[in-house]
Amino acid sequence: MNPFHYVRASDTPSAIRALADQAAPARFLAGGTNLIDLMREGIERPGAIVDITRLPLAGIDELPDGGVRIGAMVRNSHLAADRTIRDRYPLLSQAILHGASAQLRNMATTGGNLMQRTRCYYFYDGAARCNKREPGSGCDAMDGFNRIHAILGASPLCIATHPSDMCVALAALNATVNLAGPSGTRTLAFGAFHRLPGETPDIDTNLQPGELITSVDLPGASARLPSTYRKVRDRASYAFALVSVAAALRVEGGVVRDVRLALGGVAHKPWRAAAAEAILLGHAPTPDAFARAADAELAPAVPLARNGFKIALARRVIIATLSELAVGGAR
Ligand code: SF4
Repeated sequence: MNPFHYVRASDTPSAIRALADQAAPARFLAGGTNLIDLMREGIERPGAIVDITRLPLAGIDELPDGGVRIGAMVRNSHLAADRTIRDRYPLLSQAILHGASAQLRNMATTGGNLMQRTRCYYFYDGAARCNKREPGSGCDAMDGFNRIHAILGASPLCIATHPSDMCVALAALNATVNLAGPSGTRTLAFGAFHRLPGETPDIDTNLQPGELITSVDLPGASARLPSTYRKVRDRASYAFALVSVAAALRVEGGVVRDVRLALGGVAHKPWRAAAAEAILLGHAPTPDAFARAADAELAPAVPLARNGFKIALARRVIIATLSELAVGGAR
C-alpha cells in the first residue's frame, strides 16, 4: 500500500474542506470495506484519506411526507435491523441481508454501499487490461471469463456490473441521494446517481469532485408497498448476484396500481425496469402479463460468450418474483 496522508474530520463542512485542501488526490474513508481492499491491491492510490467515520451522519430520521432519511454513516447491519425500516421498507432490509457477510455489514455504511466499485475480476488484477482501472488500456473481460458480467447497458469499453444488493432496493423505492460539496448541497434521484459505462467506464457515479454523500431519503409514497427481494447467486451466502430482482406490487380492483421493478447483477448500475413497469401498470397481474413485461425489459439484452444464461435467468426470476407478490406473498 502506498504511503498516504491521514486526516480525521468531525463534521461535514470540515470533511469537505479537508478533502479540497489536500495537494494529492484524496478520498473519503467510511467503513473501508471496499476502499481499503482497493488500496492494498494498488488499484486505488490516494495521496490522502479524509476519515469521515466520526461525522454526525448516523441517524435514521422521520421526514414530513412519511418517508425516512438515512444518514450516510448508518451501518448496513443497523439499517437492516431498524424497526422503522423493517416496518415501512422491508424490501430494503431484505436486500441488505442478502449482501456480503454479517461482519462486513457491521462495518459497511449507507454512503459507502453506493460508492463501492465493481467486482469484475480483471479490475482487481493489476496485470489485466481494464478500461475502468486504466482508461484506454482495453478490457480483458470482453474475451475472457465473463460469466458475471452485464447483459444490459454495457459499452464496447466495459461490461462490468454493479455489485450492491442494497442499491437495487433503493432504485425500486425511488430513493434520492443528498450530497454536500464545495459548491453547496444538492439532491440526485437515485437513478441519476450511478452511470452506465459509455465512453468513460472509469467514472462510476455523477458525483462532482469533492462531493460527499450525506444521506439517502426514502419517500413516504414508497412505504409499506407489498414487496420482496430475490437473489440468485452461485452459493447461498457471501456471493454477488448473478441476477437479483427488487419488486413491489400494489394491486387494486384486479389491476396493477403501482409496480416497482429493479434488477441487480445485469448492468453497470442498478437497473430500473421501466419497460416492464409500463406494460404492467393498469393491467391484470397475470403470469402472461409478467412474461410479456420481462420480455420487453430484456429485449435489448446482449449476451456475451459466457453469460447468455442470465437472460433466461432474469426472465424467470422477474416472473417468479412478481407472481409471488400477486398472490399475496412476501410483504
Ligand atoms: Fe475493466 Fe470493465 Fe473490462 Fe472489467 S469489464 S476488465 S471493469 S473495463
